[in-house]
Amino acid sequence: MSELRELYQDVILDHHKKPRNFRKLDGASHIEGHNPLCGDKITVYVQLDGDKIKDLSFQGSGCAISTASASMMTESLKGKSRDAAETIFQEFHKLLTSSDGEAADGEHLGKLQVFQGVREFPLRVKCATLAWHTLRAALAGEQKTVTTETDDN
Ligand code: ZN
Repeated sequence: MSELRELYQDVILDHHKKPRNFRKLDGASHIEGHNPLCGDKITVYVQLDGDKIKDLSFQGSGCAISTASASMMTESLKGKSRDAAETIFQEFHKLLTSSDGEAADGEHLGKLQVFQGVREFPLRVKCATLAWHTLRAALAGEQKTVTTETDDN
C-alpha cells in the first residue's frame, strides 16, 4: 500500500472523487481510450472552435490516477489552442517519463506537476497518460479506440 499512499496525493484523490468535466458532450468528436493493463476505460469528448479547444470532457471508469489525470487534463486544456495543448502534452509526458533526478521543467504544467511521483511506477504511467493519448488521437481526427498497448508511451 505504500505505493498508493505515495501516489494518491490530495489533489489526485480530490479529482478522483469529484472528476471535473465528467459528462458527455453532445455533438462533439469523441474517442475511446483503453489501458488493458489496469482496466482503465475512458471516452474523451472534444469540441473545437477553429484552432481552439472550446470544450473538453470525459466519461468512463478507471483507477484514481487515470481518472484524476483525465479530470485535470480537461481543466488544463479547455480554452487552449491545439499548439498550446501539444506543448502541455509534451511537458506532461516528459514529467512522467524522464529519468529520476532529472529536473522537470514543465513551466506550463501548473498543478499537473503532482503526477511527477508516478514516473517511479511504470505501469501507472500508462494510467496517467491514457486520457492525453486519447485526446491527441481525437485532435488528429482518428476514430478508432486508443490502447496503451499499441504505442510506446
Ligand atoms: Zn489505471
